[in-house]
Amino acid sequence: MKEFTLPKQGYPHNEVLKDLEKRKDKDAKWEAGRTFSLVYHTDEEHEDFLQKTYSLYFSANALNPIAFKSVKEMEHETIRMALSLFHGDSKTCGTMTSGGTESLLMVVKTYRDYARKLKPWILKPEMIAPVTIHPAVNKACDYLGVKLKLVSVDHDYKMDVKELRKNISRNTILIMASAPSYPHGVIDPIKEISKISKKKNIPFHVDACFGGFLIPFISPETEFDFSLEGVTSISADFHKYGYSGTKGASGVFYRSMDYLRHQFYIYENWPGGIYLSPSILGSRPGGAVACAYGSLLSLGEEGFLKQATRVKMTLEILVSEIQKIEDLKLVGDQKFGIVCIKSNSHNLDIYLVGDELQKKGWFFDRNQNPESLHFTISPHHDEFIREFIEDLKDSIKEARKKAPHEKSKQASMYGMVANMPLRGVIKNQVLKMMEEMYSASGKNIDEQDGAPQGKLAQTLERVAFEAIEVKKQWNIVKEKIKSKFQK
Ligand SMILES: *Cc1c(COP(=O)(O)O)cnc(C)c1O
Repeated sequence: MKEFTLPKQGYPHNEVLKDLEKRKDKDAKWEAGRTFSLVYHTDEEHEDFLQKTYSLYFSANALNPIAFKSVKEMEHETIRMALSLFHGDSKTCGTMTSGGTESLLMVVKTYRDYARKLKPWILKPEMIAPVTIHPAVNKACDYLGVKLKLVSVDHDYKMDVKELRKNISRNTILIMASAPSYPHGVIDPIKEISKISKKKNIPFHVDACFGGFLIPFISPETEFDFSLEGVTSISADFHKYGYSGTKGASGVFYRSMDYLRHQFYIYENWPGGIYLSPSILGSRPGGAVACAYGSLLSLGEEGFLKQATRVKMTLEILVSEIQKIEDLKLVGDQKFGIVCIKSNSHNLDIYLVGDELQKKGWFFDRNQNPESLHFTISPHHDEFIREFIEDLKDSIKEARKKAPHEKSKQASMYGMVANMPLRGVIKNQVLKMMEEMYSASGKNIDEQDGAPQGKLAQTLERVAFEAIEVKKQWNIVKEKIKSKFQK
């Protein structure tokens, strides 16, 4: 079935369902553990339960808490349960959002407006975060007119606290750090930062979107939440290690209403009545709220602990196997669900290993700094990790055979892109590609050769190459001008 205009007559349900089923063929086989991140799966029983839960609230709209009291109550109880994990008290509060991105957008908006009220002399608000902060924060700052000052990370990929200190100014409205950071799985020095933020009286947000529901169970001794005085807010995703299954559920939590108040939106002059909304979305899926609630309630502490243990054991197996492979090196921290590997040898191109793994059906992320492959472990990976390790070993063999004659597309792309002089050109090319994806042609990034970054890699490689050429030419012209005027 391929329709580009509304069919005159609708298809029967069973045909549409068949079509939907068929389309899945192209997708990553997450049920067979082939995706790292994207789907945080425990087991089929939990999945079935969540599907039933979603169905019960399939049509409920969390937009109107008076019409759907049940959803409002579930949201409240879900937030309170989460806060009890994060050492909240009777003052701490929060709202649910549709995901980590919305949570972080809300955080930046909240503190921007908090500063407008309490520090009205700040005309150009700035926030400080490590370079490893999730790009949703760059997005939030771009959308909201807040300047983002990115500071470097240490050799262990943790936010450089000295750099943080240097960058604090009278315009700083917020400091943000991660627990853990997505690229390398490390927890920034939250305790140290919280001391600084407390002393300087600057709000401090901990982005625990990834690890918020994992750390309390996998590493209970780790301090990252309201137990630290300087932490004023936290974000944590239910649709990741909160195991709410369906996408569309995150939480944003504040130390007190003094902050959360600034997240709310109220418009009192609409002909349609007074409009109030706690976050970005208007209509909100009741099903996503029900699933977050249902997941916490059905798993309980015991269930979360059990899932964390599965993740921990899988991490340990994977790490010990990787340590046995001479040409690989672990990057960052492996305690918090993320394993990141780079090459430890000139003879091994890590992106070539990635290409081979992908051919075998595995989906994962590729870091550009350092050049490495990135895997997030979900509970159900305990069943597939041995298969993965075998495929990883095979992929290394394949990659060794190919290198150094054949450079991976990703390797050459990242290499060139990293050294590319005109950064704006990259953005422009990617923009063009997005225009193509969302225009009438609807082309996919990877209609090329099966490698998901295939087309992007090729385009960027060509552009980077051209930009380097232009820069060379420009340097020649510059030299000519110089010599002419020196004569
Ligand atoms: C996933 C993630 C986000 C963004 O969450 P989405 O649900 O994808 O919008 C933000 N920060 C961190 C650390 C994450 O892992």
